[in-house]
Amino acid sequence: MSAAHSAPGNTPQDAPRDIAHGFETLAIHAGQEPDALTGAVVPPIYQVSTYKQDGVGGLRGGYEYSRSANPTRTALEDCVAALEAGARGLAFASGLAAEDCLLRAVCAPGDHVVIPNDAYGGTFRLFAKVLDRWGLGWTPAASGDAAAVRAAIRPGKTKVIWCETPSNPLLGVADIAGLADIAREAGALLVVDNTFASPYLQQPLTLGADVVVHSTTKYMGGHSDVVGGALVAADAGLGEKLAYHQNAMGAVAGPFDAWLTLRGIRTLGVRMDRHCANAERIVRLLDGHASVTEVLYPGLPGHPGHDVAVKQMKAYGGMVSFRVAGGEQRAVEVCDRTKLFTLAESLGGVESLIEHPGRMTHASAAGSALEVPGDLVRLSVGIETVDDLLADLEQALR
Ligand code: PLP
Repeated sequence: MSAAHSAPGNTPQDAPRDIAHGFETLAIHAGQEPDALTGAVVPPIYQVSTYKQDGVGGLRGGYEYSRSANPTRTALEDCVAALEAGARGLAFASGLAAEDCLLRAVCAPGDHVVIPNDAYGGTFRLFAKVLDRWGLGWTPAASGDAAAVRAAIRPGKTKVIWCETPSNPLLGVADIAGLADIAREAGALLVVDNTFASPYLQQPLTLGADVVVHSTTKYMGGHSDVVGGALVAADAGLGEKLAYHQNAMGAVAGPFDAWLTLRGIRTLGVRMDRHCANAERIVRLLDGHASVTEVLYPGLPGHPGHDVAVKQMKAYGGMVSFRVAGGEQRAVEVCDRTKLFTLAESLGGVESLIEHPGRMTHASAAGSALEVPGDLVRLSVGIETVDDLLADLEQALR
């Protein structure tokens, strides 16, 4: 089994067993050996900050202080690394904490990054309002347009090409393998935010990406009960550098949050199957509906990124965006009228959510190149009975 790292050790758990590498098997077992002391089949919550040393420097299980490492967090980190087929996983207090750590680890003031022109609003804010003041230059480009990405690169300065695929909230698709080639030529790292797809639907590291970013708040956790983030590095050396910064910067996932996220991950495969199946039914309802002018979903043959999505995704996910006939006010009304789809930010939980990106999740991009259309509505399709979801949308659109 691909436990991602041994230092500072997974003890007190048993040595990893030799088991098959199917995705669902890894989700349930990677990093999660039965507890060596008690046989508990679920990794315990090590709610502890420090560890007794047997003489100065005599660490019993490799653990000394829980900012540096904690056994419950290690279990999550090893599992996420295995699911993304990476060398090293790291768990953070939030997706944005993971992004901040990564960027400060691999960039320096004066460097430059190419960012997607439809990034998640919080990611955009991190670049435009926080790292910009630190001296990190950034240029937005359409990740699905190779020529635009190439044109945005500043030779010698660009250290990262950032991509979100599918993107939030416009469901744009970028060709990960193609971007990996461009990044390699430019001497930059390709970072893929895999939050929308999850590793069940897409594994960017196997397509040439260097680092995967997650808001584990979303599909990984899957139950809207925990905020968290993760990084997975393809290369062990880069993983070590990120781990150094994780400890030095300190925005780690706490033990209970790590435990909750790991509990969610165990059912990721079956949840994603249902999210995708329900989303496809909803897309069929919306596509051609009199109150809808456009449906944004990579599974639709007319979606500009459909062919790439077919190539790199197993299915097309549970996120669906659409534009409402009648403009922004009508879009807001639709969001206000659903009864089962809860009006809320975030996504990826078992319950269906609806939101107005322009006024909610992406309000921070207003007035910028990343501003989203006012008539846009975003759905996070949950795993409820699909007929109930369809009926709710029908009445809201009426
Ligand atoms: N990336 C994407 C695609 C997101 O949707 C989000 C949050 O919505 C983040 C990153 C940031 O994650 P977090 O909210 O856990 O900090």
